[in-house]
Amino acid sequence: MIELKKFIPLLLLAVLLLSHAVFAATDSSKLLYLTFDDGPTHNTPAILDILKKYNAKATFFVLEGRITENPDLLKRIIAEGHHVGLHGVSHDVNKIYSAPSIPLEEMNKANETLYNTIGFKTKLIRTPYGSYPYMSLEQYKILKAANYKLWDWTVDPRDGVGTPSIDTMLKHIEKDLKGNEKPIILLHDKKSTVNNLDTILNYLSSRGYSFALIDESMDSVNFMELYGPAKNKSS
Ligand SMILES: [Zn+2]
Repeated sequence: MIELKKFIPLLLLAVLLLSHAVFAATDSSKLLYLTFDDGPTHNTPAILDILKKYNAKATFFVLEGRITENPDLLKRIIAEGHHVGLHGVSHDVNKIYSAPSIPLEEMNKANETLYNTIGFKTKLIRTPYGSYPYMSLEQYKILKAANYKLWDWTVDPRDGVGTPSIDTMLKHIEKDLKGNEKPIILLHDKKSTVNNLDTILNYLSSRGYSFALIDESMDSVNFMELYGPAKNKSS
């Protein structure tokens, strides 16, 4: 009897470890990637506070000018365990896509500013409005040859234009999540998104998703690889 008692703590530990492993396996099957474009701005602190509440990690695709304006916010993003990718310099369709080498030039310039601010560069990029329909195949190949990994998205709550209601955003999210094996959510660093972010994260966590970082080693997901270039731009 005394011998058996000795084993009880060990048995409890084994049960605990096993249940933990089962939970971990369940979680990893429902990973979701949150991304925020156009920052950092004065809205970023509120975004970071809400992310913290849900123990959520996110990837911020930042603009060069906004890094310069808000270096401390970029530092806070990194200090709180999130990751950054580049969103370019001009954010202007008529500039960034106007010649084959310009997307690369904008990303390299943004990367220099990133390096001067936080001491490292990134290979993650998202070009303005995504790689479709403005980007040419040639522009994509030049970025890829420079080892940049271009990330678009697979879930679009449509928060980029105007101020959609939370119901509209959740409807788009629900629709885009159906059968989606790699949910990458496009969100924007703007006030109306901040106002709805708590509800969105609550909705997603209640459906069993956990929020992971886009890793530099992951194969990127983008419209160019999925659909090819838009016809009028293929060259
Ligand atoms: Zn943008």
